[in-house]
Amino acid sequence: MRRIDAKMPPMPLEDAPRYPFVDAPGPGQIFEVAPGIFWARIPLPFQLNHVNVYLIQDDEGWAIVDTGIAHDDAKAAWEALLSGPLAGWTITKVIITHYHPDHIGLAGWLCERFNVPLLTSQASYLSCINLALDPGALEARPYRDFYVQHGLTEEMASIVSTQGHAYQRMVAPLPLTFRRLVAGDHLLLGGRRFDVLSGDGHAPEQIMLFSPQDHILLAADQVIAKITPNISVWAIEPDGDPLGLYLRSLHALMSSLPADTLVLPGHQLPFIGLHHRCSELISHHQHRCALITDACRSKFMTLAELLPVLFPRPLDPHQRGFAFSETHAHVNRMVAEKILVWRYHDNLRQVAAAPTGCGQFK
Ligand SMILES: [Zn+2]
Ligand SMILES: [Zn+2]
Repeated sequence: MRRIDAKMPPMPLEDAPRYPFVDAPGPGQIFEVAPGIFWARIPLPFQLNHVNVYLIQDDEGWAIVDTGIAHDDAKAAWEALLSGPLAGWTITKVIITHYHPDHIGLAGWLCERFNVPLLTSQASYLSCINLALDPGALEARPYRDFYVQHGLTEEMASIVSTQGHAYQRMVAPLPLTFRRLVAGDHLLLGGRRFDVLSGDGHAPEQIMLFSPQDHILLAADQVIAKITPNISVWAIEPDGDPLGLYLRSLHALMSSLPADTLVLPGHQLPFIGLHHRCSELISHHQHRCALITDACRSKFMTLAELLPVLFPRPLDPHQRGFAFSETHAHVNRMVAEKILVWRYHDNLRQVAAAPTGCGQFK
């Protein structure tokens, strides 16, 4: 087994991200971030208080990318845009990057209003429909038992298995049909070609759009300047390796897209410095994997016991729920690399360092 250094390598400062736009658009405002691409913000009633949406010039009007949650304030923000700077604009389509409600929430509302198609990945469409059909399904006993087996109390298991359900309902009904976007497709919008990319880890088949001509990437939540996207294992896929998929996606973005790409993210400010940010995110996760390996090098531990290794500060129950699922993602990554192994003992799932000679973390 290769020991992983728990220290993070220093980042070269000269590659630090640059922000071409100092300010973000306020309510009822749009900013042109590139010829034929406008940026607006829709409010969210959370600590992360906004989502970025974009309008891309299309052949006969404008394509909307992402929408905000189905909430009165978000609808009011759209009304201010549509009666303000977008008054008289023709909307041609709604493109959705992924199924999280802050992005897909008003897709159905906008598609119906303008009688335009919804374009997204199959996983985004079906995941959203699935949650809408039965948002309470994840409270089922087997899912709660899954969390209890990982060392959580019944109370915490209940919180983790039910958290986010109100949020997941903040989605207007989707159109009954959609147009599927698949990685490798080319989308022509107003004469500009966008390569359709997809990334996993944060959400399955998250769509990103890259203009090879202009070096512009609509990155959604895959790469954000100062937020580390949530990477979680959920009870429905207990052995999933979302962190492995996420790291693979970051490596692919770094190797296939130019360093001077202007990144238009789903939250916060647009930036230039894609490669630097991807390396930073990779180092961040490698460091956390190393902390976990160090913590259970000589003893078996449950996920609940490992949680404070990654999140030492006090957390409220909901934060602990997300912290648990993130911890699980790091453990599953190390198990997939055969650096850690599971055992089932005293009705608990526990993990420890694998016997020497196994595994290597990439
Ligand atoms: Zn997201
Ligand atoms: Zn988001």
